[in-house]
Amino acid sequence: MSNESVNSAARAHCGFRARLSAMLIVMSAHATPEDVERVCKRIEELGFKAHAMPGANRTAIGLTGNPGPVEPGFFEDLPGVAELIPVTHPYKLVSRELKPDNTEIRIRDVVIGGPEVVVMAGPCAVESEEQTIRIAEKVRAAGAHLLRGGAFKPRTSPYSFQGLGLQGLKILAKAREETGLPVVTEAVDGESMELVEKYADIIQLGARNMQNYALLKQAGKARKPVVLKRGMSATLEEFFLAAEYIMSEGNYQVIMCERGIRTFADHTRNTLDLSIVPAVKRISHLPIIVDPSHGTGKRHKVAPMSRASVAVGADGLIIEVHDQPEKALSDGPQALLPEAFESLMEELRQLAPVVRRTITTSCKSPVGTSSGAHSPAR
Ligand code: PEP
Ligand code: MN
Repeated sequence: MSNESVNSAARAHCGFRARLSAMLIVMSAHATPEDVERVCKRIEELGFKAHAMPGANRTAIGLTGNPGPVEPGFFEDLPGVAELIPVTHPYKLVSRELKPDNTEIRIRDVVIGGPEVVVMAGPCAVESEEQTIRIAEKVRAAGAHLLRGGAFKPRTSPYSFQGLGLQGLKILAKAREETGLPVVTEAVDGESMELVEKYADIIQLGARNMQNYALLKQAGKARKPVVLKRGMSATLEEFFLAAEYIMSEGNYQVIMCERGIRTFADHTRNTLDLSIVPAVKRISHLPIIVDPSHGTGKRHKVAPMSRASVAVGADGLIIEVHDQPEKALSDGPQALLPEAFESLMEELRQLAPVVRRTITTSCKSPVGTSSGAHSPAR
């Protein structure tokens, strides 16, 4: 059938049968790749977008881009189609209805969303090559799996340090070479997104940009995983819909991140809403990590809330560490000292098995010049 004839057939069916405004097409366990391909092709002929999500037992295909109901008859008789499921939420691709099993996201040797709890650590901002590499080596030695550090900083005040930009990304790439740690760093706009995609291993989208829809769409076209931080006033549904924006553009590698919300509480910079972790896990297949640094804003709260995050089922943590927090160009008061980070890692390693998780201690040898200088972390 040509596109036009399928489209006019779609229009002709309107009003004659009960239609599903949003649906997932669940393939049978025996469906062949050709069956899946045929359904995707039919979706595209109708002018919509197909999202095939292979699962442990079956593939489900999400359909997006339909402004209104879609006639089930277009799919129900295709070979391999087991079931058409109406979607009950405004989001589709993030949901376990589409993909019952957890999404695991691999970044070099690290897997986020699997049995391991993954720890990302480093300074709030890349301030210099020396500072970044020094801290990267310390967090690596303590057992961190990824290096964090902002090169583009979304600051509340225009007079605050805005980050080193491209130079900061180059420093992060050098730190990765020296330590072997993959890098996560923030993109704040279209231009920085392109650069971050090129230099980093994970693109971070900050709380302030969780509802920057143009940026979310651009992240959806990127080929790197995205850490999506929860907006300061975002409901669970808004958080999911932000992830849905990214996924609807074809990037399914989204890591949700709870980083605290704005409440009346004034003993803490933000209120770290750990109850969102099981809420996300219940509805979505996506991994969720916790940022106890921005979530509390106070150094003394970071370790307890990190332990709580692991206890509540988080797939990982992103923690700010600085060895001279009093001189830090941003977020010094919430940075853990490297020694405190090291003991926290030790505690987390002991805690994780209680909730049937593990924290890997093996680090690959660094590939850079200083490789011989570092022994694998424990
Ligand atoms: C950060 O991670 O440095 C940051 C700015 O985080 P958030 O967007 O959560 O404030
Ligand atoms: Mn920060």
